[in-house]
Amino acid sequence: MRVVYLDNNATTMVADEVREEMLPYFSTLYGNPSSMHTFGGQVHRKIEVAREQVAWLINAEPEEIIFTSCGTESDNTAIMSALMSRPEKRHIITTRVEHPAVLNFCKTIARRGYRVTFLPVDKHGRLNLEELEASITDDTAVVSIMYANNESGVIFPLEEITAIAKSKGVPFHTDGVQAVGKIPVDVKRLPIDMISISGHKIHASKGVGALFIKKGTRFTPYIIGGHQEKGRRGGTENVASIIGFGKACELAKHHLPFENTKVKELRDRLEQGLLDTCPSARINGDIDNRLPNTTNISFEYVEGEAILLRLNEYNICASSGSACTSGSLEPSHVLRSMGVPFTSIHGSVRFSLSRYTTDEDIDCVLEKMPPIINELRELSPYGREVKEVK
Ligand code: PLP
Repeated sequence: MRVVYLDNNATTMVADEVREEMLPYFSTLYGNPSSMHTFGGQVHRKIEVAREQVAWLINAEPEEIIFTSCGTESDNTAIMSALMSRPEKRHIITTRVEHPAVLNFCKTIARRGYRVTFLPVDKHGRLNLEELEASITDDTAVVSIMYANNESGVIFPLEEITAIAKSKGVPFHTDGVQAVGKIPVDVKRLPIDMISISGHKIHASKGVGALFIKKGTRFTPYIIGGHQEKGRRGGTENVASIIGFGKACELAKHHLPFENTKVKELRDRLEQGLLDTCPSARINGDIDNRLPNTTNISFEYVEGEAILLRLNEYNICASSGSACTSGSLEPSHVLRSMGVPFTSIHGSVRFSLSRYTTDEDIDCVLEKMPPIINELRELSPYGREVKEVK
């Protein structure tokens, strides 16, 4: 049966062109890029091409990019570096809706004696910028605020946020894992000091990421070892994945307009179709400032997990909460922070599209979802009332 894959914020398909680029580095071109010989040297040169491709996607300079093992490592590295580079400063500012790669890192750091401000969001998932400004003190080592949220798709106003951080002279890091490749990100236009990127969210393989470190930013390595990445990240490079990642960035840059037209159109059609056919469905998040590929919808009085299981019978892949927290029945920390009622949080489903999503995929979900929701509502006494009211 054909898979209808609408879980692209969890991970994406490796693009054919990316896989083609990677293959030689699993067979004939297996040299170590740090070796002196020509055989290793050609691999080194190809890694430098990948660095240029990653840099090109965000309008950075190649030497401002280091390769890491994933978005999580990039996030941890950025915050740790900011703390280690200014050891006298003991305060971090972040938000309550970050991915666990930032949130749990900050909670761990807080247990080690650092002070962390977790900024709240409103019911649309938006930050209060005055609160951000007021929370910055002379002791603040770094402000780390995500570019776009993985669950709701809400895009934070980075222009204003970076301006506030800069006006106070505080380094600014952003988790760009969900934003880069989906919306234009330009590190020359915005004063971002560090930005995290992950390969597997943009049609490269899993286990590769990058951290942009603006020229002149104080940096302390997190993974300490050999002289790789000019001493900024030890460890023999994940060569094939890095080379594929470079290609994926080049493709993502070419597809940015498509992402913001055709993919957005498909997302909007899916969303409107579900709102029209499923009683008591509501969108979570700021509908005017969202990633073009993401919709997070609550179906009141229905269990999101039950919806996913029923969709799974038709090979439709979606997600309730973020992939990293599924498996636990903890309600999503993002939706909780937005004050979404518990009955709606438990009935929330995230659909995330990609440039490979087709009209047929959307038709299939629009056909299958209404009967699934009706059926599941029949099982809930409150759900039956919702149906009758409509
Ligand atoms: N940050 C965000 C916003 C994410 O969505 C994810 C993954 O879901 C990560 C960080 C972690 O990236 P990785 O899976 O590459 O470690």
